Amino acid sequence: MTVTDSERAEILAQALPYIKRYAGKTVVVKYGGAALVNESARAVVAQDLALMSCVGIRTVLVHGGGPEIDATLRRLGKEPEFVGGLRYTDEETMDVVEMVLAGKVNKDLVAVIGRQGGKAVGLCGADGCLLPAHRLEKGPDLGLVGEIEGVNREILDLALGAGFIPVVATVAMGTGDDERLYNVNADTAAAEIAVALGAEKFILLTDVPGILRDPSDEGTLIQELRHGEVASLVESGVVTKGMIPKVRCCVRAVEGGVKRAHIIDGRSPHSLLLEVFSDRGIGTMIV
Ligand code: ADP
Ligand code: MG
Repeated sequence: MTVTDSERAEILAQALPYIKRYAGKTVVVKYGGAALVNESARAVVAQDLALMSCVGIRTVLVHGGGPEIDATLRRLGKEPEFVGGLRYTDEETMDVVEMVLAGKVNKDLVAVIGRQGGKAVGLCGADGCLLPAHRLEKGPDLGLVGEIEGVNREILDLALGAGFIPVVATVAMGTGDDERLYNVNADTAAAEIAVALGAEKFILLTDVPGILRDPSDEGTLIQELRHGEVASLVESGVVTKGMIPKVRCCVRAVEGGVKRAHIIDGRSPHSLLLEVFSDRGIGTMIV
C-alpha cells in the first residue's frame, strides 16, 4: 500500500484532537503474558507507548508474564501447578515469580521501550511500597497469592512527573509483620492502579481481539458493553479462564471512575495507537 504525501499529512493531522484530549491525562495499559511472548509485537507496543508518553500522556504499563514463569519453572525441573485454571504459588514458585516478573520480564520491557526512544523505569509492588497486600483468603487456596490493600501512588507520580513510563511488575508486599511478597493477578493490580491514578483510559492488551461471544470465532467480537452486562457473560459461560479477571477488573475500573476500559489485541500491530489516537473503535470497550 502506498501512501501519498497528502494522505500522510491527513493521517497525522487527524491525531491532533486525540493528542489534545489525552495530553496531561493518565492511560494505564496492561500487557498480558500471552501477547508479550511475541518479540516483534512487543517492539511495536513499546513504540506506541513511547509515542504516547512523548506527546504528554501520563502512560503506565503493568505487565504479566505467565508463560515466562512457566518456562523458567520447567527449566528448574518444576512443573507449574494450577487449581481450577489459577496458578498455585508455593514458596519456590514465588521465588521464580519474583525473579522472572520483577527481573527478566520487567527489565526486558524497560529496555525495549528505551530502544524505541521512550524513557521507562521498572518497578514492582515493593518499590515505594506501591502495592501493599495480604494473603488472599477467599476462594480456593492459591498459596502465596495476595489481595491488594491499596495503591501508594507516590512513586508513580514521581516517575510520571519526570516524563518516565513506569513499568510495573505485579509482585505485591505484605504489610505490618508480614514480610512476604505475594503474587497478584496483573489484571487486578492494573485496575487498582488505574483507579488510584484517576486514569482516563484503561487498556488491556491480550492475545485475542477482545471479548468474543464464541471464543473459537473471531467474527463474534463484542464491540461495546455496559459494565452492568458483564456479570451475565461470566455466569452464562461465554467468558471463561483468563478472560474472567479481565472483565471483572474492567468493571472495577469503570465503577472506580475510569472513563473507559478496553480489551484489545496486543498481537495486532499498533492496536494501542489506533485505540488512543483514532476513532476506529477496536476490540471491546466497557463503559
Ligand atoms: P493475558 O496473558 O493477556 O492475561 P489470558 O490467557 O489470561 O491472557 O486471558 C486471555 C484468554 O482468555 C484468551 O486467550 C482466551 O483463551 C480466554 N477467553 C475465555 N473466554 C473468552 C471470550 N469469551 N473471548 C475471548 N477470549 C476468551
Ligand atoms: Mg491473564
